[in-house]
Amino acid sequence: MNILVTGGVGYIGSHTAVKLIEAGHTPIVVDSLVNSNVESLARIEQITGTKQLFYKADLRDRDALDAIFSSNRLDAVIHFAGLKAVGESTEKPLYYYQNNLDSTLVLLDVMQAHAVKKLVFSSSATVYGSAPVPYVETYPAGQGITNPYGRTKYFVEEMMSDVAKSDDTLEFTSLRYFNPVGAHPSGLIGENPNGTPNNLMPYITQVAVGKRDKLGIFGDNYDTIDGTGVRDYIHVDDLAEGHLAALIHATPGYHTVNLGSGRGTSVLELVHAFEVAAGVTIPYKILPRRSGDLPAYYADASLAASRLNWRTTRTIEDACRDSWNWQSKNPEGYN
Ligand code: NAD
Ligand code: UDP
Repeated sequence: MNILVTGGVGYIGSHTAVKLIEAGHTPIVVDSLVNSNVESLARIEQITGTKQLFYKADLRDRDALDAIFSSNRLDAVIHFAGLKAVGESTEKPLYYYQNNLDSTLVLLDVMQAHAVKKLVFSSSATVYGSAPVPYVETYPAGQGITNPYGRTKYFVEEMMSDVAKSDDTLEFTSLRYFNPVGAHPSGLIGENPNGTPNNLMPYITQVAVGKRDKLGIFGDNYDTIDGTGVRDYIHVDDLAEGHLAALIHATPGYHTVNLGSGRGTSVLELVHAFEVAAGVTIPYKILPRRSGDLPAYYADASLAASRLNWRTTRTIEDACRDSWNWQSKNPEGYN
């Protein structure tokens, strides 16, 4: 298949592009580079021996997107492009709504104009808001979301659902990711945050490589195994393979599927797993709870297994080893 990969220069998109190429597909990448570095494309070429067609464009530029669809016979779209920093989204909600919603509206419109019917979207477990755990796809989404970023995911899901209802030949899937971690085992591509990392794993790896003094752990008095927050961490290569599965098993209609391991891991458990995998000590201090954080959540991963024949195969230890391999080989990321 010829697959348009929006946001394909970024963390999850770059890992997915490798899996697509390895499976014999042709990814065609469009990215504005607002949060990524084209070096990842060169690294993918190094891993796969394949140079990807790349367009630098903002998805909100309808003419540019239309031209990409006109000059490529596309079979499907995987839509990763979006801004993803939760804290920033509360400071700049309009920037998030404009970028994440307008880009998707233009994309859906151009797909319709060119009769491209298969779409896989990067949604998030955040759409469950404060539902009981484990999160199951049948729970009503959208209630109790604490930030504009999360609401952009929910609104895009609603838009996709409405569009899919209007045309029964469309095959639309929202993949609700849990917490992506890890990197390609080559250490050539990985997560490359700008400035201070918001997420736990890149913070840990930056402490390990000496860029930061110590990890701050947001709260140790939750009702969890050791008082620290619990999440469902998923290796980015497992996540990438989930996209292939979603394309292969696409059927008409609108579908939501969790991509998680089904297991919860606490902050301290992840820190200790990392220390073993990397052979380094991670100094940490306990900080107050971070506003908006939920104590614990993880996926019910059974629908992905039955519908997509997909399940995670990599462990937390694999993810820690691969994140460390990436960070230690690239202390400054792609810069
Ligand atoms: P990323 O920032 O590394 O990649 C996103 C890419 O989209 C970047 O390369 C960025 O330049 C590009 N982009 C943003 N707005 C664009 C626009 N208007 N036009 C063209 N390109 C644009 O992020 P990621 O971690 O790879 O996440 C990919 C997707 O998965 C995002 O939609 C994100 O919200 C979603 N997601 C990520 C996580 C996570 O923890 N990483 C969790 C759940 C969902
Ligand atoms: N966390 C932490 N210190 C950090 C970053 C995160 O203790 O520097 C905790 C956070 O409170 C949560 C877990 O690690 O319990 C995962 O946070 P992350 O931001 O990676 O993902 P989220 O689940 O919030 O999207």
